[in-house]
Amino acid sequence: MKHLQKFPVEHVLPLIGWPRKVKIKIPLGDIKTSVSSQRMLTYKYDGITCRYCGIKGRFFALEKNGKKFNLNLYGYDEHNHEVMLTSDHIIPKSKGGSFYYWNRRCLCSKCNSKRGNEFLWEQMNFFRTNYHSFQF
Ligand SMILES: [Zn+2]
Repeated sequence: MKHLQKFPVEHVLPLIGWPRKVKIKIPLGDIKTSVSSQRMLTYKYDGITCRYCGIKGRFFALEKNGKKFNLNLYGYDEHNHEVMLTSDHIIPKSKGGSFYYWNRRCLCSKCNSKRGNEFLWEQMNFFRTNYHSFQF
């Protein structure tokens, strides 16, 4: 998608705060962008690096999809191509996984599309080692 404007990661992350709502408005220049708070919290608390391949988020791009503005995180792969970094549900929503950020992690779009059941054992381990930080 076409980037209307780019913002450094260090500029955007401090604007997130501790949102209580599902959608938050982030003031970026003249535009107040409405974004998913849990997705932004993933980047803030899990980090901006893909858990599998290590691609690091470099900038947020403001994009327009129809009438809606969106803010997506991008990094670069080894060929210097842009790769989007997504907020991935560790336990998929379809399997009852939580919508909230503690069930999410940062994965690039390449690794996210590759992921499947082969990661299940890793997911179990993730929960075992992080059990105390979850809010049930
Ligand atoms: Zn990756």
